[in-house]
Amino acid sequence: MKVLIALALTVTLGAPQPTPGRAVVITFDDLPVGGTVPMSVADWERITTLLVGAITRNAIPAIGFVNEGRLQRGGPDQARRVALLRQWLDAGLELGNHSFSHLDLHSVPLEDFQRDVLRGEEVTRALLAEKGRPIRFFRHPFLHTGRTLAVKRAFETFLEQHAYRVAPVTIDNYDYMFANAFDRSTTPEARKKIMDAYLGYMTDVVAYYERQSVAIVGREFPQVLLVHASALNASTLDLLADMFRSRGYTFIPLERALADAAYLSADSYTGPGGITWLHRWAMTAGTRGSSFAGEPIVPDWIEKAAVGPIP
Ligand SMILES: [Zn+2]
Repeated sequence: MKVLIALALTVTLGAPQPTPGRAVVITFDDLPVGGTVPMSVADWERITTLLVGAITRNAIPAIGFVNEGRLQRGGPDQARRVALLRQWLDAGLELGNHSFSHLDLHSVPLEDFQRDVLRGEEVTRALLAEKGRPIRFFRHPFLHTGRTLAVKRAFETFLEQHAYRVAPVTIDNYDYMFANAFDRSTTPEARKKIMDAYLGYMTDVVAYYERQSVAIVGREFPQVLLVHASALNASTLDLLADMFRSRGYTFIPLERALADAAYLSADSYTGPGGITWLHRWAMTAGTRGSSFAGEPIVPDWIEKAAVGPIP
């Protein structure tokens, strides 16, 4: 009976009917914890415990991309920071490489960038080895993949030689702006307001990329969402996961999504933007412009709050 009433309410409120068969990979960048507000290692422990708890509770086979520069090697809290990564692995989650210091391939020489990538795997590779697992995926910082085809292809070859696969992104967004605003907020009311705005924004983002998939690939296919390891996502993930489920999504691991033929689409994009792979495929195929229109925008007040004074 309860089920019937709930169903009736849903229909009455005009909620969209879920489309069965949708799938999404949820990927988290800038581990252990990203953002621009300085925090203590105790804050990072609290955020990681909340985030990994929410990922596990929602049975999301997530992957986190590590900047080992954030571990502050040689610092007094190094062991506690490394333990944050172990929390991900102990929960059965995957870790990938996001470079040591989040360098920008568009502004440093390829050789320097590659050195930073190898420096960025030392701890993560050892932690994975403790579990008998390899390191498998690389995520480009800023989604910058090279300004010339020569650099782009040379770096792809470098990744192959080191047994990495590129972790593409098909659902990009500005979650880090909301996260920075959240980290700067000082009251529960302000945090609640940011969470509500973030959920509304992410719902619009997902709907936008569903339409973009059909426009560019001709169908919906398993998407790869990029968000960041943040207090905001730790606090909001249960609701984000509900949003995805209500649209008919299941959560899948990255390698399963990449098995879809969409990910074989040609990509020779060398523009300045850190754009999604969907848009790279479209531009490589020669379709762009108005077909990209309608991307949801971040509210002004979030943009302002994201760069406000650090509390
Ligand atoms: Zn990043």
